[in-house]
Amino acid sequence: MAEVVSADSYVSYRNRLLADSISSTAVSVFAATLVFQAAMSMAAPGRMWSEWLPNLIQLLVPVAIWWFGRGVLRDRPAAVILAADFAYTATLVARLALPATSSSGTSLYIAVKMLVTALLVPWGQRRQIVSVLFTLVLLYLGMYLSGVEISGGEWTHRWLGPLVAGFLSITGAAVADRVRRSVFDHERELETSAAHLRREVEVDEALARVGEELIALPDTRRILDALCRLITEVLACDASHTYLWDAERQEYAAAAGYGDTPEQWEALRLVRYPLDLLGGFQARIDAVNVEQFFLTGERPVAALLRQFNTDVVLCAALRRGDKLIGVQSAEYRSRRLPFSPHQVRIARGIAHLASLALETARLVEELEAANRLKSEFVATMSHELRSPLNIVIGYHELLLDGGFGPLSEVQRDTLRRADRSARELLELINATLDLGRLQAKRMSLDLEDVRVAELVDEVGRTFAEAPDRSNLDLRWHAAAELPRLRTDRIKLKMVLKNLVGNALKFTDHGGVVLDAYARDGGVEFCVRDTGIGIPPEAHTTIFEPFFQVDSTRDRVRGGAGLGLYIVKQLVEGLGGTIAVESQVGRGSTFRVWVPLGGPANGSAAAAGSDVSFRTAG
Ligand code: ADP
Repeated sequence: MAEVVSADSYVSYRNRLLADSISSTAVSVFAATLVFQAAMSMAAPGRMWSEWLPNLIQLLVPVAIWWFGRGVLRDRPAAVILAADFAYTATLVARLALPATSSSGTSLYIAVKMLVTALLVPWGQRRQIVSVLFTLVLLYLGMYLSGVEISGGEWTHRWLGPLVAGFLSITGAAVADRVRRSVFDHERELETSAAHLRREVEVDEALARVGEELIALPDTRRILDALCRLITEVLACDASHTYLWDAERQEYAAAAGYGDTPEQWEALRLVRYPLDLLGGFQARIDAVNVEQFFLTGERPVAALLRQFNTDVVLCAALRRGDKLIGVQSAEYRSRRLPFSPHQVRIARGIAHLASLALETARLVEELEAANRLKSEFVATMSHELRSPLNIVIGYHELLLDGGFGPLSEVQRDTLRRADRSARELLELINATLDLGRLQAKRMSLDLEDVRVAELVDEVGRTFAEAPDRSNLDLRWHAAAELPRLRTDRIKLKMVLKNLVGNALKFTDHGGVVLDAYARDGGVEFCVRDTGIGIPPEAHTTIFEPFFQVDSTRDRVRGGAGLGLYIVKQLVEGLGGTIAVESQVGRGSTFRVWVPLGGPANGSAAAAGSDVSFRTAG
């Protein structure tokens, strides 16, 4: 079958070539004839006038080819050229009747004509045979009628020469046809694979676009809405719907749609499609994944869809693993077109991508629910633990202050250690609570105009006046005439207290300095210490939750590894940045920059902050 199609299309291809070659053939024949006639009249000037009629006819033949071949007989180029060939040959042979015409010259001319025709005219072997037979019969008849000698020394090139040339021209036409055919087949192959490639690229592009859009969406609702829109756009159809399967009720219901008027969607949304109304539909879709249906007949579902002018529905299975969870439709309305195999392939790919995206969204939703549950649990537990722990710490203080009578040095020492552990535990619980609140995104900003010098002074004093103040040299300073800073005062204070607390905690000798100055449209706060320092490989990781540089050195100083993580979240919430420079054994510098006007998209709507904080160290 494919062979027949290919042969047919080759014939029409050759006819096209033939039609295209009409002009060039006419011009070549005209030029060759003119040159020949000019040469002849130069050799024998008298012949020009005595043979004017055949000369004129021979010049008119190419003109006629050109005229008819491009005019009324444009669709029949082979007939035009064959007729011209007959006329031209007849004129050549007719010249034998003229006294000056030599029979061997005519034979040569005829031989050249046959060979040139085979070479120039792409009409295949059969037409070449017809042309050669006609030419030879006419030539031999002409020579016979004009009494040319059959025997004698010249018979070979008069009789045999044209015969051999005719045979060669037929073979030549066959070879040329074979070469043309193989070029044609090759071109077709290239065209077919280029078209195939183009279709593949189209499918890939469509799927890439759908995949990119669907994967970026976080929840099932938005995935389904986008899916219906994308199917309609990519398949260039009129509407698309997602019908989800309700296993409990054994029915399908429309969950999302695109292409409907609001009234149509309202109606569709309310309809249920119970399994027993669907015949073998579900089993069929489950087996083949994609199928198109032409809506005919009075079956209820078809009748309902026909009300919306839906004529053709392409259905694709949506799955979770192997399980069918729904059907995605693509619909033609008011046009009874079949979806092409190309569209079916795209629909199959999209349904597959959608199934993956839906499954991912489901997992994310489940994970979020589990995370919410975990956060709630941690928050409740932390809260519940904090109250008894505060009571324990309170009793420790009472005991140490001698509230229950004097204590021996050993008792005092043991009690101090128990108190330190209880406080570390409280610190850990507080940090866990803060973290939970941050992760639950309950951080809201309460923007106000802050006097930087006042804030720096407040933070410095908190540490300088602390009862368990270390002997380190603590200084604080703010540049004169700093503009007011519009920010969340409480959160900024938490940040500074945490950094200064850390600096004091990780410094054994020397001191800690807190500085504030203007920089790049904001204020930079710099906390510098002469402490143990942080190795370069930990400069980024210290901002990750539960990270401590070295558990042995940090265990002595306490902490949960959450402080800097929370600091970073707070600073970013304020629209600022935080950076660290440090050398092990020489100290660390933390720089916090916050913009003067507050975060670009900050909101001052919420009153008060949800984030509570404690000082580290
Ligand atoms: P922690 O509660 O353990 O202090 P942080 O998140 O505040 O947790 O700090 C993380 C780690 O970064 C600390 O355990 C410590 O190893 C290191 N670190 C933070 N600040 C300093 C500092 N000023 N000097 C040296 N190391 C520091």
